[in-house]
Formats: sequence, C-alpha cells, structure tokens
Amino acid sequence: MTETYELYAVRYGHHDRTASHNFIGGDPHDGPMPLDYFVWAIVGENRTFVLDTGFDAAMASRRKRTLLRPVEEGLRVIGIEPDSVKDEILSHLHFDHCGNHGLFPNARYHLQDVEMAYCTGRCMCHEFLKVPFELSDVTDMVGKVFAGRVTFHDGVSEIAPNLIVHRVGGHSRGLQVVRVLTRRGWVVLGSDAAHFYANFEQRRPFPVLESVADVLEGFETMYRLASSPDHIIPGHDPLVLKYYPAATPGVSDIVRLDAVPTGRAATGRSR
Ligand SMILES: [Zn+2]
Ligand SMILES: [Zn+2]
Repeated sequence: MTETYELYAVRYGHHDRTASHNFIGGDPHDGPMPLDYFVWAIVGENRTFVLDTGFDAAMASRRKRTLLRPVEEGLRVIGIEPDSVKDEILSHLHFDHCGNHGLFPNARYHLQDVEMAYCTGRCMCHEFLKVPFELSDVTDMVGKVFAGRVTFHDGVSEIAPNLIVHRVGGHSRGLQVVRVLTRRGWVVLGSDAAHFYANFEQRRPFPVLESVADVLEGFETMYRLASSPDHIIPGHDPLVLKYYPAATPGVSDIVRLDAVPTGRAATGRSR
C-alpha cells in the first residue's frame, strides 16, 4: 500500500508587523501584515515526524514575539507526546525554528550539511546574516552532533517512504523544504522558503535572506514538487489557519493540511 501521511500545522506564536517588513523593497500599500509561528506534524501509519521545534517563552521575550501556546501543548492537542517523537526535521536553524532544545529527548535531528556549516562559519561574521540565529541554538546543535543525534542530508533525501527533504537555500543557505504524500497528493511544507502566500505567488522575496536568486529558484522548486499551487504551505502566513479545517473542534489554530483548502483560489504560475 502506498504510504500517505496526515499533516498538521500547529501555531504557537505571533508577531505584529506591517507589510513593508515582509518584502524586499517594502510594500506600496503598507498596512498590518502579521506573522504567525508554526511547527508542523507529519503523522504516518507507524511513525510521526515533527518539522521544526519553535521557540520557548524565554526566547519569545528576548525577541519580543508572542508565545501563544507552548509547542509541547499544541502537539499534545493532536495526540503527540514530545517524548515519543523519534524524528525531528529542522528546516533551518533560525531562532524561531530550532529552539526548545530539550523538548524531544528521544529524537534524531535531520539537518542539511550546508546549514550547519553556514551558521558556524564565516558568514556569521556579518551582522546582517547572523541576526536570525541565536548562539545558544547553534551551540546546542553542535552538542547534538557530538552526541550522535543528528542525521545530515545533502540536497535531496528520502527520510521515509514518500517523505523527502529538498534543500533550496536562499532564505538561509541550508534551508530545506519537505515534500510529503497525503491523501490529496504531494504537499510541500515550505517553511521559510516562503513566509507568506504573497511571497511566492508574486515572486517577491521576504527580506531576510542569503541569496535572492536562490529564494526565487526555491519558489519554482516548490511549484515543481507540489501537486498544485494549493499544495504549497508557506511558513508564517496567518491565512493558513483560514484556508484549512481545524484538526480538533474548537481549536482554530491547529489545522489539517492534508485536507483540501477552502476559500482560496489557486494563483500563481504553476509550472
Ligand atoms: Zn528563517
Ligand atoms: Zn521563520
């Protein structure tokens, strides 16, 4: 039988800002355009994978973000006990994706070679490139490498049947997206390959990046890997919670991404 997965977006944080902060070159119609923060759960027949680990309360106050609900509590709402998670995929090592260091004591961490090299090397001498990283996150990950808890990937890697990571870089040099087969086809969890639908649909990159060219190529890669434009999931867009159904009645900020989205017409060039 072909293995498919249930997919969940679990919101844990929020940050109010305006549109000009979300596009290179700003935005002529500047108005409120907040960011939501998510982790994602990929639930198979026998194995559960979690994409990214979020940040905790201490990091939220340090970075002046709002922690709406601790990541572990959100996961428990959908029946995932962090202790039981064996595989944690890290899209990249920015502070909002790799905190909560002790939350998954039994997990292996899946990371791109290039991301580890990037955030421990000469690029961190540049303030512009260093800003989204936290030293404590990076040193913790070095510790996990030494503890034998990291599985490195180089480019494209199938980490389980029908669950494949693809390095796209751009936003961070070793950023990877996750392509996963669901009951509605191939979904691409883009993480920060696109913060918002508008970033990839309008080909307007988010201003935190390492390579404009690779961000733009990453948009095309996501279109190529997803079954349709509606199968691409941006990493920080509050609209995700509008388009997808609640995973549990009464909890509006944990949604099922393997369900068909409603209220949204697919836009953008598909191929
Ligand atoms: Zn990022
Ligand atoms: Zn992010």
